[in-house]
Amino acid sequence: MSSASGVPRTGPHLVALRQVYAAIDQAAATGLNLHVLGHAGSWPIMALSRPAAPGRPTVLVTGGTHGDEPAGVAAALACLAPEFQERWRGLGWHVIPCVNPAGYLAGTRGNAQGADINWSYERDDVPEVRALRDWLVGRRFAFVLDFHEDWESPGYYLYEMRRGGAPVGQQVTDRVRAVCPLNAAETIEGWPARRGVLTPDPAAEPGRPGVGIPVAMIRHHTDHLVVPETPTSLDLDTRVRAHLLTLEVLAAVHAPSPSRGTRAGRLRAAARAASPQGGP
Ligand SMILES: [Zn+2]
Repeated sequence: MSSASGVPRTGPHLVALRQVYAAIDQAAATGLNLHVLGHAGSWPIMALSRPAAPGRPTVLVTGGTHGDEPAGVAAALACLAPEFQERWRGLGWHVIPCVNPAGYLAGTRGNAQGADINWSYERDDVPEVRALRDWLVGRRFAFVLDFHEDWESPGYYLYEMRRGGAPVGQQVTDRVRAVCPLNAAETIEGWPARRGVLTPDPAAEPGRPGVGIPVAMIRHHTDHLVVPETPTSLDLDTRVRAHLLTLEVLAAVHAPSPSRGTRAGRLRAAARAASPQGGP
């Protein structure tokens, strides 16, 4: 593992980060809007967006806040694929695939300063946090989904906080268990857990060094926050599938798609995807 201060100029992480930017460019070429939120050193922190159709909700999906959690980045990129976007046509999207590019490059949880971005939300000296905070001003989302991974967990679990609506965590884990084992422990990270679902109290995050992004999100930017944690010990494909299933359940709850589930709708979607001019 590379030290954050000695960022390598070549090597597998650099190749992988370049692939992340290539995938972002590819997604932008399909009609998504590209914004640069800020920079971590020389690396831009990018968001891809698509406006919601009238009456449809807007959601935020983020990955790679911790640089050593690649499945979150891969899942955030996967949901930008035309097939996925077509499946949830009309939904408004903001996707930040890699919040912490310097950490991703170095393979470290923290950024180049060694800061844990997820728990540095009140720090003014963390560029990734500043970029995110500036961009978030005045924005609200139907849900916020922040993909993470856990190096120690034997299975998938998620944190859920929801205001003004029924929790959906059990629906998610019921789906995910078909593709990825769950963490069945009754206590995870200090919180009581039931079938892989933790419902923490944002006012009482135990043993954390500062205000976290999750706390800020649920206080100011959404009524529904879900943070899935995939087990890093399993293969990448399984972890990405578990993340995407989480997104599928949330999207279905907040924005049931009129074309989903009908044969005609699927055929129309397939025809649009196959057309050379297909896609918005
Ligand atoms: Zn994480």
